[in-house]
Amino acid sequence: MKAPKSQQVRRLEAVIGLEVHVQLSTASKIFCSCPARLPATVSVSEIEANSHVCPICTGHPGTLPVLNRKVVEFAIQAGLATQCAINPKSLLARKNYFYPDLPKGYQISQYDEPMCRNGVLGIQLPNGEEKRVRIHRIHIEEDAGKSIHYSGFSVLNLNRAGVPLVEIVSEPDMASPAEAGAYLRELHSVVTFLGISDGNMEEGNFRCDANVSVREPGAELGTRVEIKNVNSFKFIEKAIEFEVLRQSEVLRSGGTVIQETRSFDSFRGTTVPMRSKEEAEDYRYFPDPDLIPIYVDGDWIEELKKRLPELPQQRRGRYVATYGLSAYDAGLLTSSREIAEFYDQVMEVLKKSTVDAELTQSAKTAANWVCGEVLRMLNETGQTLQTSKLTPHHLAELVRLLQLQQISSTGAKQIFGKVWETGKSVSEVIQGEGLVQISDPAVLKPIIDKIIAAFPGQVAEYRSGKDKLIGFFVGQVMKETQGKANPTLVNEWVRQALSSG
Ligand SMILES: [Zn+2]
Repeated sequence: MKAPKSQQVRRLEAVIGLEVHVQLSTASKIFCSCPARLPATVSVSEIEANSHVCPICTGHPGTLPVLNRKVVEFAIQAGLATQCAINPKSLLARKNYFYPDLPKGYQISQYDEPMCRNGVLGIQLPNGEEKRVRIHRIHIEEDAGKSIHYSGFSVLNLNRAGVPLVEIVSEPDMASPAEAGAYLRELHSVVTFLGISDGNMEEGNFRCDANVSVREPGAELGTRVEIKNVNSFKFIEKAIEFEVLRQSEVLRSGGTVIQETRSFDSFRGTTVPMRSKEEAEDYRYFPDPDLIPIYVDGDWIEELKKRLPELPQQRRGRYVATYGLSAYDAGLLTSSREIAEFYDQVMEVLKKSTVDAELTQSAKTAANWVCGEVLRMLNETGQTLQTSKLTPHHLAELVRLLQLQQISSTGAKQIFGKVWETGKSVSEVIQGEGLVQISDPAVLKPIIDKIIAAFPGQVAEYRSGKDKLIGFFVGQVMKETQGKANPTLVNEWVRQALSSG
């Protein structure tokens, strides 16, 4: 069907819940010793098919699964980070269905006794407000393999079979595509800050199903539609947006929404019904007789609690409270652990060289640089902070010199570019390029006098009330000094010279 035109449809209230599958970064698979994690430099597609398999993960008869302790720990950490209650006893269950990429004929998952329940995740909305989304449950399970279909035949790659996942299921607490996007981004930050997943969405290591329904405000819940397997923040928002409009249109025109599973067509920006064989049937769940229950005691939970890092929401709070950053900047800085840690390291260096009264200003300048130039260069070059030549000391030195007005902001950008390229220190680059800012009145005042003498017409206009011409004179001085003059001082001295002449 065609995408409904948003301007024609009065949208109804949306009710959205998300189920997120997160691939855990354990060294080995969930029930065998096959490698689950690939070296960071190798992508899944580059590994030879069926090279990371054994009789257990390929479901040979007579083999027995052994649960990976690390998977349980990672799930507990996900639960603690989202304020869930950790179940002292949970069960592994068989979810029975037939599909060629599932060699056992069932997936080992959890059903009525998941590891974690009843949590909450604080999210930051695009307008900077915080909202709480309740977490219904978190359970562990194994991934299936992958079928690749060609014309006339299909092939199987079981490298992914038995790779550990946690599924994090929210309550239907989100009311717009933007809220769903914010929740997903927050959850992504949480699992990557915890270090339990690399969160690589392109590889499908963080993927999302969305349950979407619409209703008249205040009415009972409508029939929900499930959108399967979306692995981009942008696509999930688009898929939900389309679905809300589609359902609104169906109901407005007197129809009924059918309960079904749909997939997102990213090319057309629409959702389409999935083939019925992929729809949920009766899975006949029952506890797996090959695996004993998982028992988690209080000591274990306490030990894992101690190992929790500072999470994105706490960091945002700290940045706002101690550095006076805006909620927006704090949100950008905590969008990835790498960025947040880099910023903290820059601030550690700055704290040693900055008096307390100036620290807030330094913190804001540093945040602007990290959220601006640093993120821009990372995006442009495809590098990470680990692979780039930029160090926290580089940025701290740059911020310090800006603060002392020894370099101009234009000069700082040039210096930053050179530092990024060469890895040289800021002072080395400044000496090499002659980029020190001129603040010396003995140099600048004669230049200002010269400019004023050269433009008598503009001087007369300024004096007759055309204040805006100040910019013209400052511009001329900057031109004369090849951008090296301190613009604040030039502005002040040009005004003085013009009013005293
Ligand atoms: Zn295996």
